[in-house]
Amino acid sequence: MAASPSSERISVALANSFNYAMGYGTAMVSEQQFDYEALLDRAKKKLPHTLEAHDRFQVPEPDVMIEGKSTVIRNFGDIADALRREPNHLLGYLLRELGTAGTLDGRRMIFKGKVGTAQVAERIKSYVDEYVLCSECNRPDTKIVKDDRILILVCETCGAHRPVHVKKQVKSTEEAKEIESGKVYDMMIEDVGKKGDGIARKGNFIIYVPGTAKGTQVKVRIEKVSGTVAFGVRMS
Ligand SMILES: [Zn+2]
Repeated sequence: MAASPSSERISVALANSFNYAMGYGTAMVSEQQFDYEALLDRAKKKLPHTLEAHDRFQVPEPDVMIEGKSTVIRNFGDIADALRREPNHLLGYLLRELGTAGTLDGRRMIFKGKVGTAQVAERIKSYVDEYVLCSECNRPDTKIVKDDRILILVCETCGAHRPVHVKKQVKSTEEAKEIESGKVYDMMIEDVGKKGDGIARKGNFIIYVPGTAKGTQVKVRIEKVSGTVAFGVRMS
């Protein structure tokens, strides 16, 4: 390193402090031995991921296309890659959440029924909350490990552990209360199904309301709830 005496002193001081941070004795490293760049790299890797790492976490917006009676997520593979999760795991989750059947087709996912981009994006966000983000530091650098029969989300950034189903259980009890048979709710009819019934959504529920048109705001009395599907009657 061809540096002036003063900057050389600073480099040595930095190197020593990095060594200290990394748990090495300062005596181990002499001026000739250390490679400043490599040391800096290693020190950076040892440091907790910074906000920068969080900002880099971008889940691609699902590229959703309706094909006949099916929906295709064209960039499904990219989404799974960004989340660092098995495509089949994400696939299983989405099919369960959407209450439909589907399959992978190369890097695409195809499933039965017509679902809009917003609904798909919402389910992916739930997946990210449940299976990807650390609940302590909110970073996405996590992995899922199996401990006995329980799935544990382990954060590579802060080391926090949590079972992956905790959030879901909390959420589904909240949602179970969102729609109850016999109660009346204000709903927006977002879509119209094959048989002409209006379709509203609330949380994970899909509510069929006969005699309503897309884009109308209606009061609906819930007649029947079956899993995440409900049937309602228009009151207004
Ligand atoms: Zn964490």
